[in-house]
Amino acid sequence: CGVFGIYAPDQEVARLTYYGLYALQHRGQESAGIAVSDGRSISVHKGMGLVSEVFSDRVVDRLKGKMAIGHVRYSTTGSSLLANAQPLVVHYQKGMMALAHNGNLTNALELREELGKNGAVFQTTVDSEVIINLITRYRRDSLENALVKTMMDLRGAYALVILAEDKLFGLRDAHGVRPLCVGRIGDRYCLASESCALDTIGAEFIRDVEPGEIVVIDEEGLHSRQALSKTARSSCAFEYIYFARPDSSIDQLNVSASRRQMGIELARECPIEADVVIAVPDSGTASALGYATALGIPFGEGLIKNRYVGRTFIQPTQAMREVGVRLKLNANVSVLKDKRVVMIDDSIVRGTTSCKLVDMVKKAGAKEVHFLISSPPVAYPCYYGIDTAEREKLIANQLDIEGIRKFIGADSLHYISEEGLLRALGTEAVCLACFNGKYPIPVSNLDRGKNDF
Ligand code: 5GP
Ligand code: SF4
Ligand code: MG
Repeated sequence: CGVFGIYAPDQEVARLTYYGLYALQHRGQESAGIAVSDGRSISVHKGMGLVSEVFSDRVVDRLKGKMAIGHVRYSTTGSSLLANAQPLVVHYQKGMMALAHNGNLTNALELREELGKNGAVFQTTVDSEVIINLITRYRRDSLENALVKTMMDLRGAYALVILAEDKLFGLRDAHGVRPLCVGRIGDRYCLASESCALDTIGAEFIRDVEPGEIVVIDEEGLHSRQALSKTARSSCAFEYIYFARPDSSIDQLNVSASRRQMGIELARECPIEADVVIAVPDSGTASALGYATALGIPFGEGLIKNRYVGRTFIQPTQAMREVGVRLKLNANVSVLKDKRVVMIDDSIVRGTTSCKLVDMVKKAGAKEVHFLISSPPVAYPCYYGIDTAEREKLIANQLDIEGIRKFIGADSLHYISEEGLLRALGTEAVCLACFNGKYPIPVSNLDRGKNDF
């Protein structure tokens, strides 16, 4: 998911949020929503589909207030339903509150059971509703203290933007798994999952929200509180590998530069004598360029992407995913015919895409297809908010590398090593759990099901 928030009484906050969400569209295409607040009352509009489908000019213009938050969603927990679209808005004894969440809690079921025993009722099947319930339960204390107490109860990954009582809040979990950054526009502040959204609205990047930090934005400006003691940071490596936009920087690392570096590492680990290097666009492009440049092999546009088709994996069913591949990518014969081809993609998850692509490239006349992957094998599910599929569906969980190579039909297959990936990122402060099963935040058995509540 993607989140955005802005406090700017003198500006059109709904419109700026709309642009911010537009820039974050790659983070979720199932639903979109914007909530605006005048300090007391909150109005919200949300719907299924893309930002451009959910919001007309008229709808955006009707949303008036001095601050706003927005959300684009792809479901990891909770079904793809309008009821589960965010921001969530609630009335409580102190007024209204709106919340938008990127990430996934690992103790949501436990918390939900406990809250249920105390009489809480739930209207959605998303774990984010648990968060809002906790905050209102603790609200007898000051709002800021209530947020601190809530954070102490939450386990898992969350980047949150919250509108309540005249303030905009940004919260990031103790490990900083999901990204969140602060921008300045004029003398006002905003929050976004990725810095590309700040660029889009003409805001200046200020800094990332720290793990365990609460950022408070209001009439006074910006202040911050370290709610949870700092633990080792574990930024999601998949954000760099695949999920985030190349023009974003997360936790001081530019996404495109780190992808290019992954390609350079691949060239070191697995130099292949080839006539052309191609990418599976767009996520494989930067690594393919890094690889091609490092080895002095020409880069070619061997696969052409239909730019009007979204990310196939975001389609929830396997049948939809399969048609999706052919709708989205086609082989370019002029680049591939009679060539020894190195094809680079960011990841193999289920293997559906890869299998079809190798076949396509071969049918277009490639003599050899060597498949290189800029991530290690994805062998474990993500419980922190990226949809890497259940364990049984992960091809690297079923087959060894030679088995995967055969299944895909490539002449050779190489995945970047974990060390190579870390070298490319230049930091060890990243989560690699979907590759090595070392989960930085414990995952309870209850929540491993990842089912709806
Ligand atoms: P597969 O070979 O598993 O069918 O698809 C791999 C493709 O899905 C890659 O091109 C990659 O860009 C994309 N992908 C990357 N991350 C994810 C993810 O988190 N979930 C899924 N399902 N697909 C992803
Ligand atoms: Fe990211 Fe993988 Fe960790 Fe999930 S398990 S947060 S996808 S690195
Ligand atoms: Mg891809």
